[in-house]
Amino acid sequence: MTTLLFSPASTGKTQHCIERVHALRAQDKLALVWVILPNQDHVRAFRRRLSGIGVMGVELGTFYYFYAEILARAGRLLARLTEPLQYRLIQDIVTRRYGDHPHKGYYAPLRDKPGFIAELRELIEELKRARIQPDWFASAVMGRGERLEELAALYTDYQAWLMPQDWADAEGQGWLAEIALQEHPDLCRDVRLLIVDGFDEFNPTQLGVLKTLAQRAGETILTLTGDVSRERPILRRFTRARDILTRSLDITPISLSTLHTPRSTLHHLEASLFDPMPRRHTAEDAIEFVEAQNRREETRAALRWIKARAVRDHIPLRDIALVARDLGPYRAFIQETALEFGVPVRMVGGLPLARNPAVTALLSLLTLPADDWPRRRVLDAWRSPYFDWSVGQDDAQSVSYADALDAVSRNGVVIRGLAQWREAFDLAATITAERDQDEPAPPIAPEDAVSLRGRFEAFVARITPPDSATVRDYVAFVENLIGDDEPVGQDGTRSATNQSLSVVARTRENDATRDRDVAALRAFKDVLRGLVLAESVFAQEAAPITYTAFLRDVRGAVEAASYEIAVPDTQREVLLAAPVLRVRGLAFRAVAILGLAEGDLPQAEREDVLLTESDRRWLRERGLSIEPRLRGDEATFFYEAVTRASERLLLCRPYLADDGQPWEASPYWDHIRQIVDAPVRHVRPEDPLPIDDIASPQEAFCLPLLAGGGQEGGLERGAAILRARLAEQASSPFEGDLSSLAAELHAHFPADFVWSASRLESYGTCPMDFWTGVALACEPREPLEEGYNVRAFGSMVHAVMERVYQRASDPADAEAVLAALPDVAREVFDSAPSDYGFRPTALWGYQRAEIEQTIRATIVALAEESHGYAPRFYEQAFGFKGQPLLDVDGVKLHGFIDRVDAAPGGRLRVMDYKTGSTPISAQDLNEGRRLQLPLYALAARDALKLGDVDAGFYWHVGSAQPSSLELESFEGGVDAAIQIAIAHTHRYVEAIRAGKFEPRVPPGGCPSYCPATAWCWRFSGVRR
Ligand code: SF4
Repeated sequence: MTTLLFSPASTGKTQHCIERVHALRAQDKLALVWVILPNQDHVRAFRRRLSGIGVMGVELGTFYYFYAEILARAGRLLARLTEPLQYRLIQDIVTRRYGDHPHKGYYAPLRDKPGFIAELRELIEELKRARIQPDWFASAVMGRGERLEELAALYTDYQAWLMPQDWADAEGQGWLAEIALQEHPDLCRDVRLLIVDGFDEFNPTQLGVLKTLAQRAGETILTLTGDVSRERPILRRFTRARDILTRSLDITPISLSTLHTPRSTLHHLEASLFDPMPRRHTAEDAIEFVEAQNRREETRAALRWIKARAVRDHIPLRDIALVARDLGPYRAFIQETALEFGVPVRMVGGLPLARNPAVTALLSLLTLPADDWPRRRVLDAWRSPYFDWSVGQDDAQSVSYADALDAVSRNGVVIRGLAQWREAFDLAATITAERDQDEPAPPIAPEDAVSLRGRFEAFVARITPPDSATVRDYVAFVENLIGDDEPVGQDGTRSATNQSLSVVARTRENDATRDRDVAALRAFKDVLRGLVLAESVFAQEAAPITYTAFLRDVRGAVEAASYEIAVPDTQREVLLAAPVLRVRGLAFRAVAILGLAEGDLPQAEREDVLLTESDRRWLRERGLSIEPRLRGDEATFFYEAVTRASERLLLCRPYLADDGQPWEASPYWDHIRQIVDAPVRHVRPEDPLPIDDIASPQEAFCLPLLAGGGQEGGLERGAAILRARLAEQASSPFEGDLSSLAAELHAHFPADFVWSASRLESYGTCPMDFWTGVALACEPREPLEEGYNVRAFGSMVHAVMERVYQRASDPADAEAVLAALPDVAREVFDSAPSDYGFRPTALWGYQRAEIEQTIRATIVALAEESHGYAPRFYEQAFGFKGQPLLDVDGVKLHGFIDRVDAAPGGRLRVMDYKTGSTPISAQDLNEGRRLQLPLYALAARDALKLGDVDAGFYWHVGSAQPSSLELESFEGGVDAAIQIAIAHTHRYVEAIRAGKFEPRVPPGGCPSYCPATAWCWRFSGVRR
């Protein structure tokens, strides 16, 4: 006898099945019962509900489980193609068909794309579920173009491999199970009760097996959600399944009298869903709405509500579900928040393996040799907490060694490649170029470079694989690096024989991430073993492959893999977080649904990329039972989601999208709000949390602060910082007011401290820039790139300008200077990369010519500005190289004057070359941002005793013109300019010693070389 129970959701269909099992077992304790369920979550839930009855002799499983059971009973023992193996087989078939020829066929360009392999696998499974033979498919698509013909050929290749090997994939097992049932008429006649519960569709293979089983079982009960009293469009997916079942099994659906009465609001919701004129109903606490600022806040609100249901309403976590149409965008938030709230969660589908931090670090490390040792990633590997580099070394200070390696690689401008790394070590050992007075000292002592190099070479040797090896050998290499789950000794040491990086042991050291990372590493090792198994199954004999090919396979397999954080068997109280499609047919007391936003739920239906809707129509017209993809089932999925709860339902939506734009609510949200009268709770992270809603120790800790509870530090401190940030004028201990350090600053900058004019200028431009760059000696960390930077450009120009006038037969004659230019430029440029630490690009030849041309133009223009003057001194030092210091009323200064020209009468003109494009005016001197020129004039006159200075300017090399600030035309002349510079100098020195370092944005924006640009909240624009 076969019964099809057809009644609305949550009306007791599963309960009826359980009672039938109970009744049968009461009559016959050994009666065999088979229960077929859609997935393992249903199996778990059904088993739990059966537990009071006893499950001996009751077999529960999915169709796949019973396919294998039927085949075993029929004596057909087939090797099962697991998912990783199937992926590898399809990849192998694709590779064999297209080889290394990207233009050989329609899909050849996609031959090594993991996404294509995954799509192809889905198509093959669909064809097999529909029981379409490869030759039927091939003849149906013949003449429809290579797009479809190649799919048919790949399907044929796949089946041609499987059949003779006696292997079966999951869908093939169903096919064979049906054949076995037909060949063995007595098979499965001992099944007394067959239950099929929780489905909303059946494929041809399932129907074929079901039909035969139903004929042989003593009694069969099938359940489907639906309404015999009326046709509801929202239930069309179930209606389709009902029609197929009634046709195939020749049965009539019957309604089930309601055994279980859900709370009235939820019942009303089920009955009114998608009615054109629904009657409004009060929520009575059964249904709540939350709109949160973003997905993160939405997840927090939902988990907070779930924890409240567990704690206040005493609903066990196993009776609660957290549901989203697509769990993907929520996975990380669920994992993070559940951990914080102490809610054990089982996430269906697990977490993507490729996004686990330990696996990401490992893959990055493994690809270093293949990617030619890129600088950033080598440093990341040295700093990674997942790797223990201490084996064979005398200590484990890998982080400080990483800092030293960072400094060496910056100094040597390492971009990638072992040759560059080795050059950088050579350079660190011997710094030859004369460095500018203000440049920092070499980053590492030359003698330390030698020992660091030893470490680096050991690191390279350790992670360099053979160029070519079998998959098995490469896997052994990687597993040796990962190491066993070896406990670290009590003293924190490892055995001397352990040459691995102890990745597993390292992950165990962090309590907060241990379970997650250990689970991911286990899944990663499974991926590696899957590759070895695939090699031994598919290859005639293990042939060597390149390391790049091996990494590609590993990456592809990792992309397709997921991992689950194990919940101990003893832990029965676990929240299920699942996509909507995985909770269909399950019953919970409370359900929270995430993502009721436009585009998220309902999702836009997409055509299949390999088999379009018109292809599917074409195939159906030729008798192949392939279903359309666009079936308008989203409303049914929503119905199935909201009807899972029997007591409490929470509906959530984010009102801002991931990019911060407003996000419209889902039409389903609006629809339910029409049916249910309940307020919407608006959640923003900055809103104070009611004390009753606190869900974690972290939130409890923040509460007194948020409430202004007066804890020392904390909020007051935060508020003070915020006030400082918002103040128009920077002035507070959080913004450079270090007057409390005045005593230390006086000691650091004593009376005999020698200042440089350029550093005082830096203070005048922005005191905070001086504090970070000069006092704290922080350097801006720009990403290393090939080619010279602004600083190297300035150094090259200064070097050429200094030497070319000295080399010229007559420095006052522009022609003679220009004649000397090519040789001088060649000399400077040839050694510039090593002198100024940059790595030339392919454009270096053109750039040299361009710089030389710029200097040529500046020499010509400078000659025109120099009538009556002749160059006399170049890079003239004061306070260096045995030359006297400049003493300005007790403030001592040193520096280099780029050039001093002399007129026949002995009058002098000072000059400072500028390679930047920022204009310099008299106002800059008046306001204290430019001091060098007048101070150089004073140094030439008073310290070096070169004579009286009656002129001077900054020379802009790029535009080949003098600055608008000229000492001779400054109001009051050269002496007035000098007096102003002296006044600023004294003011600055005094302010520095008093600890005044408030940030001040320079006119035109902050300079790119200011080391504080990364964090200074006054930062504005960038000046180059
Ligand atoms: S970012 Fe601008 S305001 Fe801030 S310290 Fe640098 S130059 Fe001064």
